[in-house]
Amino acid sequence: MVSVGVLGATGAVGQRFVQLLADHPYFELTVLTASERSAGKKYRDAVNWRLDLPLPETVGDITVADTRIDNLKNVDIVFSALPADLAGKIETECAKAGIGVCSNAGFHRMEPDIPLVVPEVNADHLRMIELQRDAGTDGFIVTNPNCSTIVFTVSLAPVRNFRFTDIRVATMQAISGAGFEGIPGMSIFDNVVPYIGGEEEKIERETLKIMGKFDGSEVVNAPFSVSASCNRVPVIDGHSMAVWLDIKESVEMVEKAFKNWKCPIMDLPTLPEKSIDYMTQPDRPQPRLDRMKGKGMTISVGRLRPQIRYNVMGHNTIRGAAGASILNAELICDRGYL
Ligand code: NAP
Repeated sequence: MVSVGVLGATGAVGQRFVQLLADHPYFELTVLTASERSAGKKYRDAVNWRLDLPLPETVGDITVADTRIDNLKNVDIVFSALPADLAGKIETECAKAGIGVCSNAGFHRMEPDIPLVVPEVNADHLRMIELQRDAGTDGFIVTNPNCSTIVFTVSLAPVRNFRFTDIRVATMQAISGAGFEGIPGMSIFDNVVPYIGGEEEKIERETLKIMGKFDGSEVVNAPFSVSASCNRVPVIDGHSMAVWLDIKESVEMVEKAFKNWKCPIMDLPTLPEKSIDYMTQPDRPQPRLDRMKGKGMTISVGRLRPQIRYNVMGHNTIRGAAGASILNAELICDRGYL
């Protein structure tokens, strides 16, 4: 078994990591870290567990550690669910100390030798680990994109060979995307907030790197532009998006592409049977009905119509965060990078 730790284990994404790693066939959860506020407490006492599945018994007894490199000595991989501004330093220290880092945090995502990976879209970018090793790092850092970008780019995988110059996307993002302490109830209930700081820029930037080509030394960005417009809505989990593609192909051709798409990777424990569920009902996908498909790892695409427009929805803390990182780690093990 590979010994793993979770940095920021008490937060919205950290809790998902704990839940998904509790009974994992490759990974044994050995270290949980958080802030000084939580350090020294048993996990069950430190965490305000908010998931619908119970806190795994064995994990509840782990004592939460301070987020310091000294507390991570016997770990092979750390999953990072820290706020971005805190993640950079400790993630770099881990990689230098020979630990593999699979990070949800934004700090390292756009660095030229750090892969930003969504396995169904750009698994080959994992070869960038070799650039890090050539530069003398014993471990590695692999990042996954922000939660909306993951759901969005998986939906683009079947149509990526059609030519487009501009993609537009309007998001309706769940409150769990803002973190555990995220957004006060008085601000979000009975409301829509048409601003999520930094989110539009992240979607616009990260998509081009993920869908770009890695030529062995760098990623050449995808040759189109993305315009995003982000909104926070009173949904607990599940980010929904409306997407417009400026392509010449007919609806029938795009539908065929969604229906016939074959996932380029296979046989990993967290990979769902279907990464994309193409839906034809006129009022789907919906977060409450569709977010837990494929144990939260399947995205749902629907409402495909002329000009080409469609809707997509995926679970933000599973598919868009913890599950995505764990899938990356499984692929890393499978490809022998550990
Ligand atoms: P969160 O709920 O606010 O959790 C933050 C975690 O970091 C908690 O465990 C917290 O520990 C810990 N922490 C805070 N200050 C710390 C410090 N000074 N030293 C060490 N640990 C500290 O945030 P989140 O939503 O889980 O997001 C975590 C990361 O994932 C962020 O970078 C976010 O952008 C990214 N992300 C989030 C989502 C999502 O859907 N929520 C999706 C994709 C990516 P305490 O409990 O002890 O304070």
